[in-house]
Amino acid sequence: MLANKTAVVTGSTSGIGLGCARALAEHGANIVINGLGDTDAIEKERAAIEADFKVRCVYSPANMLKGDEIANMISSAEKEFGSVDVLINNAGIQHVSPVDEFPIEKWDAIIAINLSSAFHSIRAALPGMKQRGWGRIINTASAHALVASPYKSAYVAAKHGIAGLTKTVALEVAEQGITVNAICPGYVWTPLVEAQIPDTMKARNMTEEEVKKDVLLKAQPTKQFVTIEQVAGYAAFLCSDTAASITGSILPIDGGWTAH
Ligand code: NAD
Repeated sequence: MLANKTAVVTGSTSGIGLGCARALAEHGANIVINGLGDTDAIEKERAAIEADFKVRCVYSPANMLKGDEIANMISSAEKEFGSVDVLINNAGIQHVSPVDEFPIEKWDAIIAINLSSAFHSIRAALPGMKQRGWGRIINTASAHALVASPYKSAYVAAKHGIAGLTKTVALEVAEQGITVNAICPGYVWTPLVEAQIPDTMKARNMTEEEVKKDVLLKAQPTKQFVTIEQVAGYAAFLCSDTAASITGSILPIDGGWTAH
């Protein structure tokens, strides 16, 4: 399905992004992975994508806090592979705190990484997609693009923002063979979710089990974490020709969370 195409997946050294990178590689795309982490561990994941799926995979260390590094990541990918056909804006961080105690630098970082980085990458990747008349842009939003939870002001603001960016860009390129959508997962068991448990325990005075059951999965009627493979499969579907009419959509995959 994606042979001779190239996908850039931001924040793909871990969790959902890595799952998406591997799912697109399985469909034949060459891949640019990106994200922070231990150099040896990243190299292992990069080499595994090449070995498992017989595609090419390169790593970009671009920091999603920095617009110039993001633009360079896209132009380097175009030089290396000839095109960027699929862009998944997935890098994200979280911080849990009451709004009146929210650290200002955390607010700025969350807005930059979870929202502005997608503006920078889309801005850089669109001209090539328009030239070729084909493109798929998928923004990893969240159920928090549709509803809020207390103590997550920056994250919820950024995710609602990315929903607005998704719809706007979709309208701008609707006649040019490019679709732009946001996937909105409920809780997926990844390092991002694991890492917020201690702060939530503190903010709500709860045990770890109480946080999982009464905070995280309380909102999710299935009482199951969404899996990385389910989100990655959804992203791969959005890259197919069958999905060509899905654009500007804010798509929940949340075990029923946003149904109530
Ligand atoms: P994760 O922590 O496993 O992965 C986050 C990725 O972003 C990592 O590769 C990390 O290195 C990268 N990253 C963070 N800061 C970066 C920076 N400055 N520059 C470059 N890369 C950076 O988390 P995840 O759960 O897989 O989250 C991926 C996306 O999915 C995020 O946008 C998150 O908001 C969203 N999401 C997650 C869940 C969930 O329950 N896990 C639910 C809804 C939405």
